Amino acid sequence: MDKNQIMGGLLGVLIGDALGLPVQFAPREERKKKPVAGMEGWGAFNMPPGSFSDDGSLTLCLAESICEAGLNAEDAAGRFLRWYNEGYWTPTGFAYDIGGSTSRAMERLRRGVPAIDAGPKGENDNGNGSLMRIMPAALYLAGSGPETMADGIWTISRITHGHPRTCSACYIYALLAKELLTGVSPIEAYQNLCSLPEEVLQAGIAGTEKKHFARILDGQLQQVSEREIRSSGYVVHTLEAAIWCLINNNDFTSTLLAAVNLGEDTDTVAAVTGGLAGISYGFEAIPAGWLEVLIRRDEILSLATGFADKLTQVRDIEAGDKVTEAPGESSKKRGGSR
Ligand SMILES: [Mg+2]
Repeated sequence: MDKNQIMGGLLGVLIGDALGLPVQFAPREERKKKPVAGMEGWGAFNMPPGSFSDDGSLTLCLAESICEAGLNAEDAAGRFLRWYNEGYWTPTGFAYDIGGSTSRAMERLRRGVPAIDAGPKGENDNGNGSLMRIMPAALYLAGSGPETMADGIWTISRITHGHPRTCSACYIYALLAKELLTGVSPIEAYQNLCSLPEEVLQAGIAGTEKKHFARILDGQLQQVSEREIRSSGYVVHTLEAAIWCLINNNDFTSTLLAAVNLGEDTDTVAAVTGGLAGISYGFEAIPAGWLEVLIRRDEILSLATGFADKLTQVRDIEAGDKVTEAPGESSKKRGGSR
């Protein structure tokens, strides 16, 4: 894990969000006729080029929370609520593109519901609204064992999305991020994910939900044809689409444009894809012209640099002092089973 990968992971989410936002919910056929080739702006929300939406804002809120408070659901939820109430970490001072489950979670937080219980848990709450903002937690927990990683990822997902399917999807995403951080190619990282011991998968994938991820975990996703890949806001579709784009492309630019040009939930599919591609190819692979137009770029880069410094310092201390407790490690074991 190096700073270039960590910053790539964070900025990849922001860049993907901004690339996809103008064409959100337009069908794939439209993208076939008129593919997105760069930062366009305007469109769906009539926002200027370089605008990011809920995906980017909540990712920045979580990264900042981890910098200041470690992995702390209440602290993160407080910043999410500031986004919802005040437009904290938004491009122009107001929150927009807010998903249904997230909106209900914010209302529950306002009423004092604890962060870990705020996210709705219904079958219809399996949208991609926690997957799109989980990357900072995935990066923070990458050095941890499966139990600690699962506990942390589930806790952070549950602030807005509490269904075990969505929490399991976030865990699979974090496992893939961890594999990518070793520096292997996307396809090797994917194959390593699919070869993980059963106990590693079981730590964070609910037994009742595993069947929904069979097509991802069977190791054959690269061969699935594009027409069989959906890119809707359903968390399983988004995760499949992101991994499919990652392993069927060979550089940051083509991976993100492939995600946007699948159509449908373009900002989030590209944001989720962008996080993975950012780790794979590094911050330095992000086209300068895309980064240049990102709104609040300097503040975002400052936060991302601080986040990367924090994560690499923790690793350095661990390596030097032989500290065995991983970031986010708690002596308190998670109760119950998944
Ligand atoms: Mg969005």
